[in-house]
Amino acid sequence: MKNGSVYLDFNATAPAHDAVMEAVLHALRLSGNPSSVHSYGREARKCMEDARAVVADSLGVKPAQVIFTSGGTEANALALTQVQNRLVSAIEHPSAVVYAQEGRVICARPDGRIDIQDLQEKLSAAELVCVMAANNETGVIQPIREIRDLCQAQDARLHVDAVQAFGRIDFRFDDWGADSIALSAHKIGGPKGVGALVIRDGLPITPHMLGGGQEVRRRGGTENLPGIAGFAAAVKAMQALGPWQARAAALRDQMEANICAIAPDAVIFGANAPRICNTSAIAMPGVKAETQLMAFDLAGIAVSAGSACSSGKVAASPVLKAMGASDDLSASTIRVSLGWTTSEEDIARFIAAWSALYQRTRQAA
Ligand code: PLP
Repeated sequence: MKNGSVYLDFNATAPAHDAVMEAVLHALRLSGNPSSVHSYGREARKCMEDARAVVADSLGVKPAQVIFTSGGTEANALALTQVQNRLVSAIEHPSAVVYAQEGRVICARPDGRIDIQDLQEKLSAAELVCVMAANNETGVIQPIREIRDLCQAQDARLHVDAVQAFGRIDFRFDDWGADSIALSAHKIGGPKGVGALVIRDGLPITPHMLGGGQEVRRRGGTENLPGIAGFAAAVKAMQALGPWQARAAALRDQMEANICAIAPDAVIFGANAPRICNTSAIAMPGVKAETQLMAFDLAGIAVSAGSACSSGKVAASPVLKAMGASDDLSASTIRVSLGWTTSEEDIARFIAAWSALYQRTRQAA
C-alpha cells in the first residue's frame, strides 16, 4: 500500500501477496506453451498442473474439476450459458445479473438474503439457479445448503458465485453441494484477470471460448500461466495467514458501533444477517457517495461506492434497491471492505474521517 494511506477496498481487489509476485515472475520466465509437447511445454504444463492441484486441494476437489478462466466474470458466464432457463438472484454481481431473464429473478429481503419463498415459486421452470455465497456490497451470506435442497428437489443445477466468499469464510466444495462455483484470484491477493469455474465431478461443460482444446475442451485459449501460478500462490498465502477473519470481523463491528454512536441516522445494510468478516455497507443519509469518496480520498482513505467493478462510475446500487433501499439512501452508501493487512489505526482513521465529514455536513445543513 502507498505510504500513509489506508486501503479499505479489498472487495474491489486485494493487494497482491509477495509470494504471488514471485510466482508470476517465475511463470513468466517459463517460455513454453502448456499445450506443447516439447520440454519447454512440459515444464509450463507442470507449473499449471501444480497450480491446479493447489486450487483443487483448497476446496477438497480433484484437479480435473478446476477450469481456469480469466476471472470471476468469465466463470459466471461459463456456468450460466450452459442452459436456456436460468433463475438468477436480484443481488448477484453484474456478471451474473446480465444473464437474468424476464420474470426469472429471485427477489431479496430487506436484510440482504434472498427470498426463499420467491425462489420456490419460480423454481419449477429453471434448469439452473444462480445465487452468490456472499454479496460483494453488503457481505451478506446466503443459505446455500437450503437453496441446494430446493434445487435438488426440482432437478435444477445450482451455480454459486463464491468470488467474495473464497478466503473470507472457510468452506469446501462439498459443503454446499453446488454444481459449480466461481472464483477470482485478485480478491484473495492474487493477480487480476484469472479465476476458475470449479465443477461437480463429471459435470459436462460446453466451452464458450472455442477454437482450442484447452482445459480438457471446456475453455479454449492458451492458459494465462503467470496468472494461474499467481492464483495458486495466493491460495497458499491465504492459508498461511492464519485466522485473520476474526480480527477483521472485530474491527468491522467496532467500526460500525462507533459510526452508529456518532450518527444515529447512519444505516448499515445487512447488519441483521450473517455476513462475511470484512464488509460493511454504510449510508450517511443526505451525503452522496461521490462526495464521501472524494472526502475519504483526500484523507488518504480508499473505499468505494457499492460495486466498483464497473469502471469507477457511481450508479444507484441494484443490490440495495433489491433490498428495498430508496434511491436516496442507496446513493449515500459506501462500501468499506477490510483485509488481512487492516489495522486498528486504519479503522480509527476511517472513523475519524467519517465523523468529521458527518459533522461538517450536519453543521452545513
Ligand atoms: N462476482 C463477484 C461477487 C464479484 O465481487 C466480482 C468482482 O468484483 C466478480 C464476480 C467478478 O470477478 P472478476 O473481477 O474476477 O471478473
